Amino acid sequence: MHRQTPVSSFNGKAEPVIVVQKYGGSSVATTEKIRNVAKRIAEKANGARIVVVVSAMGDTTDDLLNMAQELCPMPDGRELDKLLATGEQISSALMTIALQAEGISAVSLTGGQAGIITEKVPGKARILKIDPRRIREELNNEKVVVVAGFQGVTDHANWADITTLGRGGSDTTAVALAAALKADRCEIYTDVDGVYTTDPRIEPLAAKLDTICYEEMLEMAGQGARVMHSRAVELGELYDVSILVANSANDTPGTVITKEDPTMEVRNPVRGIAHDTDVARLTVVSVPDRPGIAYQVFQRLAEKNINVDVILQNVSKSGVADVSFTVAMPDLEKTKCALYPVIKEIGAEDLVTDQNVAKVSIIGSGIRSHPGYAARMFGALSADGINILGISTSEIRITCLIEKGAVRNAVRALHKTFELEKP
Ligand code: ASP
Ligand code: MG
Repeated sequence: MHRQTPVSSFNGKAEPVIVVQKYGGSSVATTEKIRNVAKRIAEKANGARIVVVVSAMGDTTDDLLNMAQELCPMPDGRELDKLLATGEQISSALMTIALQAEGISAVSLTGGQAGIITEKVPGKARILKIDPRRIREELNNEKVVVVAGFQGVTDHANWADITTLGRGGSDTTAVALAAALKADRCEIYTDVDGVYTTDPRIEPLAAKLDTICYEEMLEMAGQGARVMHSRAVELGELYDVSILVANSANDTPGTVITKEDPTMEVRNPVRGIAHDTDVARLTVVSVPDRPGIAYQVFQRLAEKNINVDVILQNVSKSGVADVSFTVAMPDLEKTKCALYPVIKEIGAEDLVTDQNVAKVSIIGSGIRSHPGYAARMFGALSADGINILGISTSEIRITCLIEKGAVRNAVRALHKTFELEKP
């Protein structure tokens, strides 16, 4: 990295450009892939100051988790954090060794060494603050700094214990570091070319988006699009960090997640179609129809940190009604356990679950100001003979609950109806 240093003018002062690049688990799954990424970083460095954030190699995190669960079905949170954090420590050290082999001066840091201080909440700790002094020092010494993603430490009052940020948390590490370092660019490299109008495995005519705003990306992620960790997008919005999502294996331009561009009035109000088959519907049957019942049911779920969607209550006949809602499939057992006592308390008849459902959503910040999109969506589904089991909306999203088997047809019909195909 002895080429000319590109500079950005910051407060009139010329400063070297700082770039944060994150590489996902599939991009660093083998030593060969790590070597390719290291070569790429070396080739494209162009004098910028580079902070690399890595995920664990391939399925390492799952493998470590399985080992712990072989020994104990509910492993202790503190030990699990310490175990899982090793995945990223391995990949960060190997990446640094690979960079050094390319003749690049580099150093690896754990999350704690990088100054990432978190809450003391095992498995899903939030970042409290970042002290970027060590990273800055290493950058000043012209080193590429490779940070182990997905982890931090508690503060000294809590013994500086190792914590993790939740599955997929390396994205959050990258965006948080970009914010703390006031980086010029934040780039997330993965195994897809960017964010698509819908899942290209379902609709080959899905188009890659050049840009998408934070709000839309959050809705897409919340409704099943598995591109980025939602917390990373929230952080990007909060600290005004534009995030490039691109492929680590090619030079396709990727998608920039950024602020909404108010000059883009003319674009398609719908940005994408999301689908989520990982949901279950629960119905509390024959609930007495009186004030406070919904509160009792949903308060119990809130206490257990369970997110609900597509809530419906049918018209009460003879003083009783059915209340149904959806939860994410991994929360199903927890939801049933939480609700059985409530069922008794409120005098409902039964709790019925249905796993044969899925959600399809249209998402776009333009929906807010364009009436008629709900009608068009329902029309497209009915033209394909797809029955709507329930509906939920936000200002920029309309979601229909349908039968699981109809998902592919629904996605394709909606993609066509809202003219999202590649030009
Ligand atoms: N390795 C962690 C996981 O698989 C974090 C990440 O990949 O971002 O969840
Ligand atoms: Mg991973």
